[in-house]
Amino acid sequence: MRSYTLIAPAKINLYLEIISQRPDGYHELAMILQSIELADEINVQSLSNESICVNCNHSQVPTDKSNLAYRAAALMAAKFPEALAKYGGVEITINKHIPVAAGLAGGSANAAAVLVGIDLLWNLGLTKSELEELGATLGSDVPFCVAGGTVIATGRGEQLSPLPSLEPIYIVLAKYRSLEVSTAWAYKTYRQEFGSSYLRDPDNLAARAAAVHSGDIVKAIANQDAGEIAQKLHNDLERVVLPAYPQVLQLRELFATQAGVLGTMMSGSGPTVFALVESEEQAQAVKLQIRAAIPDQDLELFVTRTITHGIQVASST
Ligand code: ATP
Repeated sequence: MRSYTLIAPAKINLYLEIISQRPDGYHELAMILQSIELADEINVQSLSNESICVNCNHSQVPTDKSNLAYRAAALMAAKFPEALAKYGGVEITINKHIPVAAGLAGGSANAAAVLVGIDLLWNLGLTKSELEELGATLGSDVPFCVAGGTVIATGRGEQLSPLPSLEPIYIVLAKYRSLEVSTAWAYKTYRQEFGSSYLRDPDNLAARAAAVHSGDIVKAIANQDAGEIAQKLHNDLERVVLPAYPQVLQLRELFATQAGVLGTMMSGSGPTVFALVESEEQAQAVKLQIRAAIPDQDLELFVTRTITHGIQVASST
């Protein structure tokens, strides 16, 4: 049976601005998304029947129909029934390295990998934008995860506009294994607390979303200026998550005082906190310092770096 193994990188948010509430219930966002080397491995293998099944080595990840990777395969099966009949169903095996419910788009990256993998297994020849369009029906971060890199994302996060590729910047990530922040809770709380300042005029909305394209952080990215990028990191959701989760605030404050840290921020709706660091050596040193300050084994720490791609094929049989 044919199979593909794919690399599915996580993302961090270098910038996340909440602009308004949309009529569909989602928020209008302006974000800068960045792929990082920390990644899951996804294997997709053809089956002799038309079923879909998921295996995963992580206890917090469901293997039933609620898994986003399963939903990606079910979407492909519904869209391309002839290919399903010709090539058979798929067995999906997820080797999890990306922390779960972390604001790192782990589930979305898995779904993007399954779309790319099934496109290959079934010889569909879909374009990147066709894959992104399918991905948008599964979740706002899935289209980004397909191509990855450094991207401005507007709308719900599915309207993508690529930025110049960044030279690698080293990153330290910190996440308490047992701490989860519900994305729905974070946005709902933000709306309750700050909704009165949302933009309502459609002209203003468009201008605000456009402003991110000429913003300081985009200029810093164009100039490959890691120090300036780090100074311009921004995440509106910190306004609700940091006061409610003291452990996240503590990590944020601890990172800010470490030598070599250029800037620090929470990713997405958290609770992962990341720091951009001057060099790999300093990133390793920051990791050791944080570990020494917080010996709690529930705290997971990773050294990683920015990368310029999304889903990649690692091998095929
Ligand atoms: P985002 O940054 O897109 O908000 P996240 O990193 O916060 O995502 P995920 O790791 O994608 O969150 O997990 C969110 C929830 O989705 C988890 O609680 C988990 O049970 C469920 N889930 C479903 N499918 C997957 C998957 N393939 N990988 C991880 N979690 C999954």
